Amino acid sequence: DADLGRAAGLVREVPDFPEPGVLFRDIGPVLADREAFHSVVDALGRVHAFDVVVGIEARGFLLGAAVAHAHGTGFVGLRKPGKLPVVADRVDYALEYGTAALELPADALIAGQQVLVVDDVLATGGTLAAARQLVDKAGAESVGASLVLELSQLGGRRTVPDWDVRTLFTV
Ligand code: 5GP
Repeated sequence: DADLGRAAGLVREVPDFPEPGVLFRDIGPVLADREAFHSVVDALGRVHAFDVVVGIEARGFLLGAAVAHAHGTGFVGLRKPGKLPVVADRVDYALEYGTAALELPADALIAGQQVLVVDDVLATGGTLAAARQLVDKAGAESVGASLVLELSQLGGRRTVPDWDVRTLFTV
């Protein structure tokens, strides 16, 4: 797919962001480009059946909502702490330095729903593992995850074994 190849070339590498020594991959230019954005959203949704998309704040909202709209499903956003007015559940997880948490909004997921999790980048995998826990604890079925970019050296896949995690590009 030529447009998908074009999208891969638009991922911008930003040294020393958000802190010195980190090479940040910025997918902003992929979203801004018409052909790249459409091909990425198409590819993210080209997985087995799902009936709701769960996206992770913040770029998982942009991609996940587009996938949900294209497939005629609803969308549920997992948020960082302090943003949701009514919280159903929360999972805390470790980062390289410090901790983070994700919250599931109340009255969002329905038990038995088939959930596709969408995000932009798979790094250490902590975020994705937390998202899966929230989906599973809600009684929904996590059928898989779709992400744009996988940073393979960080081994994030190992945090979510036995799960169908698809990534469009790997570096
Ligand atoms: P992890 O939990 O896998 O270490 O980190 C993944 C989360 O952090 C994702 O939600 C992703 O948006 C963000 N993230 C980590 N590294 C990068 C990066 O290089 N670029 C972008 N765009 N996001 C990143």
